[in-house]
Amino acid sequence: AFNQLEYDTTIRRCKTRPVKVGNVTIGGGHPVVVQSMINEDTLNIEGSVNAIRHLHEIGCEIVRVTVPSMAHAKALEGIKQELRQTYEDVPIVADVHHNGMKIALEVAKHIEKVRINPGLYVFEKPNSKRTEYTQSEFEEIGEKIGETLKPLIISLRDQGKAMRIGVNHGSLAERILFTYGDTPEGMVESALEFVRICEYLDFRNLVISMKASRVPVMIAAYRLISKRMNELGMDYPLHLGVTEAGDGEYGRIKSTAGIATLLADGIGDTIRVSLTESPEKEIPVCYSILQALGLRKTMVEYTACPSCGRTLFNLEKVLHQVREATKHLTGLDIAVMGCIVNGPGEMADADYGYVGKTPGYISLYRRREEIKKVPEDDGVEELISLIKADGLWVDP
Ligand code: SF4
Repeated sequence: AFNQLEYDTTIRRCKTRPVKVGNVTIGGGHPVVVQSMINEDTLNIEGSVNAIRHLHEIGCEIVRVTVPSMAHAKALEGIKQELRQTYEDVPIVADVHHNGMKIALEVAKHIEKVRINPGLYVFEKPNSKRTEYTQSEFEEIGEKIGETLKPLIISLRDQGKAMRIGVNHGSLAERILFTYGDTPEGMVESALEFVRICEYLDFRNLVISMKASRVPVMIAAYRLISKRMNELGMDYPLHLGVTEAGDGEYGRIKSTAGIATLLADGIGDTIRVSLTESPEKEIPVCYSILQALGLRKTMVEYTACPSCGRTLFNLEKVLHQVREATKHLTGLDIAVMGCIVNGPGEMADADYGYVGKTPGYISLYRRREEIKKVPEDDGVEELISLIKADGLWVDP
């Protein structure tokens, strides 16, 4: 006999350790965290505060900024101060680069998380004619990296702050390329080398990312690091993203293909959708991915049939009207179906249904139960009345 329990549809997330970034926790079973980045110059304190605040208000839970110079690093102090005084203490993450260890230490004083790219910690001489590295050369460079990073790691560790080890497929160090190739394996080894340095210094507030602009590469790299960490007994949360995804519809589809595939595998604790558009455009895409997978519910879930020859009303128009009237009611599932033939069955577990009944009339459903038949012109108002009668309405 058919056993519903054999078909459990819940995504089982990989177990990871909780990493605190200010008042937000990444991993440890916490909801998948949404991130984005301002494109304001960090030297412009007022502009940056406004941009951070705006992104945070629309759902960006950790905001990233760039810090290309010491002056930018020092400006972070003013930004944080202003946020605390005029808004709230939004968790901030900043990128720092190899040649900027002094900058990194300054940054670590002011914000909650520092992102480093292992590919930028290069000790090989430029124009090197070499084509391979011996094990001892490889390790020697690893030690130099460790010495360079040590003050930053200790600073973050002692302040209870976090670090993202952000590997990029496009910027792997030469010795990684010579040893492992331009491969997901190279990306994983690059990250693990940095993880070991941090663990050696007893620092484990780590988040790891394996970004690539090609989706199959990114998926393979995240799957591999997840597997390797599992084998090694490591449990660091993963930050998912597709770099340089571009813009528009394809940028969104490309990001979703990479991020959602991994989330469905249970991989990933925080996400960023990188679009070549203003940063606030990234946030709804993140939340839509999480909602579609059932990982976070932050908006009304609409089910609507695609319409066909049986459709009894202007489905596109009505769906738009229903959405406009109810989109603020977080947590509800509402279905809009063109006809009675397949409508009630196909709207599955929706809380409310708006279904074409006969020409000029629609039926309103509560779950699978038909509540009343009303003229189509009154449909949206009647739906609102039904939700109000059930005590689930709140004013927008
Ligand atoms: Fe067509 Fe009815 Fe199915 Fe909508 S629910 S696609 S109108 S058959």
